[in-house]
Amino acid sequence: MTASKHDPDCVFCKIAAGQIPSKKVYEDDELYAFHDIHPWAPVHFMIIPKTHIASMAQVGPEHAPLLGRIMTLAPRLALEQGCQPYPEGGFRIVVNTGTVGGQEVHHLHVHVIGGPRPWARG
Ligand code: AMP
Repeated sequence: MTASKHDPDCVFCKIAAGQIPSKKVYEDDELYAFHDIHPWAPVHFMIIPKTHIASMAQVGPEHAPLLGRIMTLAPRLALEQGCQPYPEGGFRIVVNTGTVGGQEVHHLHVHVIGGPRPWARG
């Protein structure tokens, strides 16, 4: 397991700690999932590690189990949140990384986006 880190200036650390309100989708000892405040689509939530990792650019082999948990949780939560089943349905997973990658919040987060089209973006 990854040692837990908290950045007192990070909005997603504060959300994971319950210091800023959010619409929770899922929580366990390592992960937190919540609805995006500006959804692109009928289903749009994010899965974050509770430990502070700034982005995918900081990920190393020690994070493989944590990332594996996020990626295997995503399809389950997508269905629970109303995404239609594969293959006619499905969802999009997005991990914006760095300025060029369109990352605005510097705490690793995996967007899960789906539901009936049209979508506002994407
Ligand atoms: P990104 O561009 O990948 O860094 O996306 C950050 C996302 O976080 C954006 O889609 C925002 O709408 C979302 N966001 C920012 N602040 C909050 C918040 N307090 N609660 C929920 N979503 C947020």
